[in-house]
Amino acid sequence: MPEIRHFIDGTYRASTNGRTFPKYRPYDGRHIFDVCEGGREEIDAAVGAARAALHGPWAKVSVDDRADLMRAIAAGITKRFDDFVSAEMNDTGQPISAMRHAFVPRGAANFNAFADLVKAVSTECFHTETPDGRGALNYAIRKPKGVIGVISPWNAPFLLMTWKVAPALACGNTVVVKPSEETPSTATLLGEVMNEAGVPNGVYNVVHGFGPDSAGAYLTEHQDVDAITFTGETRTGTAIMQAAARGVRDVSFELGGKNSAIIFADADLDAVLEGLMRSVFLNTGQVCLGTERVFVERPLFDRFVSALAERVKGLKPGHPEGAATSFGPLISSEHRKKVLSYYRRAEADGAVIVSGGGVPELPAELSSGSWIEPTIWTGLPDDHPVIQEEIFGPCCHVRPFDTEKEVIGLANDTLYGLSSTIWTQNLSRAHRMAAAIDVGVTWVNSWFLRDLRTPFGGTKQSGIGREGGIHSLEFYSELRNICVKL
Ligand code: NAD
Repeated sequence: MPEIRHFIDGTYRASTNGRTFPKYRPYDGRHIFDVCEGGREEIDAAVGAARAALHGPWAKVSVDDRADLMRAIAAGITKRFDDFVSAEMNDTGQPISAMRHAFVPRGAANFNAFADLVKAVSTECFHTETPDGRGALNYAIRKPKGVIGVISPWNAPFLLMTWKVAPALACGNTVVVKPSEETPSTATLLGEVMNEAGVPNGVYNVVHGFGPDSAGAYLTEHQDVDAITFTGETRTGTAIMQAAARGVRDVSFELGGKNSAIIFADADLDAVLEGLMRSVFLNTGQVCLGTERVFVERPLFDRFVSALAERVKGLKPGHPEGAATSFGPLISSEHRKKVLSYYRRAEADGAVIVSGGGVPELPAELSSGSWIEPTIWTGLPDDHPVIQEEIFGPCCHVRPFDTEKEVIGLANDTLYGLSSTIWTQNLSRAHRMAAAIDVGVTWVNSWFLRDLRTPFGGTKQSGIGREGGIHSLEFYSELRNICVKL
């Protein structure tokens, strides 16, 4: 059985205690490899290597040279494109087209984007007046924050992990990554690219394992880690924040969402349907920015619901490399249990099941995968768990509304504040609504259209801080003020 190892100080190693855990392929349930399970020893070794590199060879690399290395890493990913695509496809079970056209290219793009940014960023300088009239020059310099703990989830593993590693390295930090136990492969493969690109040993480290009482918790508790950047569930963020409090370490959190789509009757229905098919069902609904609550202006409601149900029939589950496949499985049987519990609850509480609601029939070779039907409901009360809690599956609840004021109240009636989409041809209304919905990112007549220079993050329980562009550089570096009396 092949084995996925840790990447520490530039070399691949197994756990000292020899412990491993199995990885099951989401689309057919097959045990495809074992993953080394890291403990305190591996975390100590990785953090130690990261600390040594920070003060050693990496400290001597200039900003220009770091930017060149970022580009070399991006080129290395592109050179090994097919390896990254198949590694990510096996880990997540998602259609190969999504890996090829979105998730893997974005990994390379993350490194290129921060290579550009880190060279262009300036710091502030003030000419200060002093009582004796001589004045002083106050200027700021930017220094790396130190050893960064990167904890990443399974839903878009390579994209989300590199979204943190790229700015961290561009700013001169070193990292220890703890990828999700479900998706260990691409972070591991990136170690080879780092070595080929000439990144010094210890700058990029990967330790595998679980969260609580395992590598994840040990990393966040480690007092030689200077800051923690985390993407995952809000509940996990709470635990990590508690660990980070010891030693007063900084955190950047990209957490859960319960995002709304607000559709006015004047919207271009075809564009709406195309957008909703992506925002609800892409990656089998396992996207933090995905839409699980849909609000439709009443005159359009019936037409919209039946048109969306019609389009859903076009989603084709199947082998990720199948030419016709457009819909993948959930990440694991465990996650399917969770999503199905919401499906059952909706049914038991009288939801109108417009489409799906269960487990699909698939050919024998795929029947042990964690498949689930894309599902649309209407008719549940606004305080129902299906409408209030993040399900993270291919499903949405659709509800009619009559006024702007009413839908603003409905959309904001959630503990989360990650993203929303607004669909209308009325530009004034779009601006008005966008400012009134309490989220970090609003898309008008689109979804997931990302410019990596823009601030990304959530309000309320969807996160702390912003990443993207200069905002990433703010988190991954420390500004120091120097005052020189003239
Ligand atoms: P998760 O919180 O279960 O796990 C994420 C990572 O945290 C994994 O690597 C896990 O091993 C680790 N972990 C778990 N408990 C830990 C602990 N106590 N200490 C340290 N590490 C711990 O999340 P998931 O199920 O992998 O991902 C899905 C979640 O991620 C959803 O809630 C989704 O909305 C969220 N997400 C948010 C964004 C965003 O940008 N806001 C993006 C993608 C996913």
